[in-house]
Amino acid sequence: MTKILILAEHANGQLNPSTAKCVSCAAAIGGDVHIAVFSDQGATVAQQAAGLAGVSKVLQLDHQDFAQPLAAMIAPELAAQADGYSHVLAPSTMFGKDVLPRAAALLGVNQVSDIMSVNSGRSFKRPVYAGNAIVDVSVPGDGLIVATVRTASWAAAGEGGNAEVEQVSAQSERPSHTRFVELQTEGGDGPDLQTANIVISGGRALASEENFELIYALARKLKAGVGASRAAVDAGYVPNDMQVGQTGKIISPELYFAFGISGAIQHVTGIKDAGTIVAVNKDADAPIFEIADIGLVGDLFQVIPELEQALS
Ligand SMILES: Cc1cc2nc3c(=O)[nH]c(=O)nc-3n(C[C@H](O)[C@H](O)[C@H](O)COP(=O)(O)OP(=O)(O)OC[C@H]3O[C@@H](n4cnc5c(N)ncnc54)[C@H](O)[C@@H]3O)c2cc1C
Repeated sequence: MTKILILAEHANGQLNPSTAKCVSCAAAIGGDVHIAVFSDQGATVAQQAAGLAGVSKVLQLDHQDFAQPLAAMIAPELAAQADGYSHVLAPSTMFGKDVLPRAAALLGVNQVSDIMSVNSGRSFKRPVYAGNAIVDVSVPGDGLIVATVRTASWAAAGEGGNAEVEQVSAQSERPSHTRFVELQTEGGDGPDLQTANIVISGGRALASEENFELIYALARKLKAGVGASRAAVDAGYVPNDMQVGQTGKIISPELYFAFGISGAIQHVTGIKDAGTIVAVNKDADAPIFEIADIGLVGDLFQVIPELEQALS
């Protein structure tokens, strides 16, 4: 019987929308869908998870070891809880990509990564070569499948569920070599880049950390998340966790702005699922215009202030 366990992602008492996207993937696989909430006080998040349509049970694993999203702590327990399940899923966010390979290794299975669609319960499509090819990945046999879900490919499951919440005691042996020291977040206090409806990104053309303030100011006005090209990250204008693309974050906002970004394939792979792409570049031949829905040939240092003024 197909029985799917989804690892919930959450922070500050809020379930991350990536979990609801995993529920949609689980629905495509079919079967009984459970969500595991790891926390020290997970009641609020467990209730949110229980409210997702299509979920039949939420496992609330409260333990001080799970107060922080540490892969070293969560992976052994997730592996212990996997008994009896046919699939263990997690979002292919930084959190999921941190925890799930460890759990897969502890369970002695290979991980399937980045499910973008489901062929059957044991066969999935995933992108390769920076999204330029799609391959079918089939898992032989009838053993456990551990997989990450490409969140940009799935709509979030709706609400209206009323799943049972079960308090579950932690049963794994967890390592003593890892402890939480502190959490440092960078990139401002705007919406989460991976779940924001609007994302505004800047590239090398911004030319400095100070000039990136132009992007932040526009983002504040539009309540948008802020992203960047790798060139901007490598140049030190913005922190690494703002990188969009093949080796950064894969995002699917409804509206994406690319200011001074050339449109290298590795960047474009991160925004393929965006609804509308707006590009501003002073080079009319920049490759970004090939994928942009709206393109403006112009100098971003003129366009952004004009745009801001038009918005106020
Ligand atoms: C293995 C690998 C993985 C990679 N992963 C990623 C990734 O995840 N994400 C990513 O982004 N890149 C990635 N890259 C790097 C990628 O190949 C490009 O080098 C990078 O995306 C370029 O960033 P950019 O567009 O900001 O800079 P550039 O390519 O230098 O483009 C700058 C653009 O700004 C325009 N411009 C200049 N001044 C202005 C102005 N005043 N107003 C308007 N426009 C202006 C220029 O015309 C140009 O088109 C990867 C590369 C490799 C090899």
